[in-house]
Amino acid sequence: MQRLKDKIRDIPDFPKPGIIFKDITPLAKDPAALRLAVHYLVQPFLGRDITAVAGMEARGFIFGSLVAWELNLPFIPLRKPGKLPYDAQSISYDLEYGSASLEIHTDALNANDRVLLIDDLLATGGTAKASCELIEQLGATVEALGFVIELDFINGRKQLEDYEIHALLHY
Ligand code: 5GP
Repeated sequence: MQRLKDKIRDIPDFPKPGIIFKDITPLAKDPAALRLAVHYLVQPFLGRDITAVAGMEARGFIFGSLVAWELNLPFIPLRKPGKLPYDAQSISYDLEYGSASLEIHTDALNANDRVLLIDDLLATGGTAKASCELIEQLGATVEALGFVIELDFINGRKQLEDYEIHALLHY
């Protein structure tokens, strides 16, 4: 795991003063490290009754697609507002300052689906919680959540108590 942590770069004061942003682009840039990350990321989910992998825009697309490829499952994008071309279901959620929205195509999932949700990083859990609700609004079940990075000191898990969560790297 240290080999993977070496590929996560701290960017002070991004996107605003006082925040230390965990930059995953050095990991994405290194094919061997990226393969290793995805290899470890899928381990808890092998042989499970999962029918689809969903990922949040934008960095969730990088890891979510690779996990879907590895598990030979469909990939479902959760997109920022106004990007999806077909009928979309939308959810808004609060950020520290302001709010954000995510959307999913209404035909992306149905009541038979058991979804693995993948994102690069778990902080407050707000994005993940809204994503779970969006998936459930289509009648699907969230089987589990997987993250490359979890910021343990923020304890985003506390608002995701009903879900199974796995993360590779902890800070
Ligand atoms: P949360 O909703 O859990 O507070 O924030 C997680 C979401 O914001 C994820 O979609 C993640 O991509 C993004 N995010 C927040 N902080 C960071 C960070 O330090 N590094 C990266 N790579 N993403 C972050």
